[in-house]
Amino acid sequence: MAESKVRRMWALPGAQLSAPMSLLMQGGDDKMLDLPCPSFLIEHPKGLVLFDTGCNPKIIDDAIGYWGEMARHLPLQWKKSDTLDQQIKNVGYKPEDVKYVILSHAHLDHAGGLTYFPKAKFLAGRNEIRYAYWPEPDKRWAFILNDYIPTRGYDWIELDQDFDLFGDGSLKFLLTPGHTPGECSLLVNLASRKILLTGDTVHVRAAVDTEATMPLDTD
Ligand SMILES: [Zn+2]
Repeated sequence: MAESKVRRMWALPGAQLSAPMSLLMQGGDDKMLDLPCPSFLIEHPKGLVLFDTGCNPKIIDDAIGYWGEMARHLPLQWKKSDTLDQQIKNVGYKPEDVKYVILSHAHLDHAGGLTYFPKAKFLAGRNEIRYAYWPEPDKRWAFILNDYIPTRGYDWIELDQDFDLFGDGSLKFLLTPGHTPGECSLLVNLASRKILLTGDTVHVRAAVDTEATMPLDTD
């Protein structure tokens, strides 16, 4: 059967953080890099799909209050006009229109907007949310409990294998664990090309070339 294609996809920019190269790959130096925290909204005939939810908007006014002291090390730029709900409205939809939210992983710059979508189905890799509640102590700073606690009653599905979301080849959920235990990627079949959305599977090209891991990687 021929693979179907999604209708369109929008890359929605969220907060922009700054972090040293040493945080993004083993062996990196102290040079600061700009880190986008995008979400991707995908239009399919069977429903609207969102990949990742960016940072929690509470950090716009008080990053240290919401993220804790580590926020001092991640300078950020984010305007209230660019929150995820507003960007979804800007392309003609409402947050309630989102049918599936796919969470690449539960780090603070990906899981901050879950509560915009209380009626959606949530897909994550096996063990991701349990790990987010109780990570290793040295990785705790990257998981913000208040991002998940309000979602305990949501419709979460954790997958332990690759999954063709609509059964037509247009959107393939791929398990890519390593950065976190349940990290996943999404292969999107657009009319013009295929794009692999990788969350934090890799951050910088130099890490691809050298196969360097990131200090936060769990495996
Ligand atoms: Zn991450």
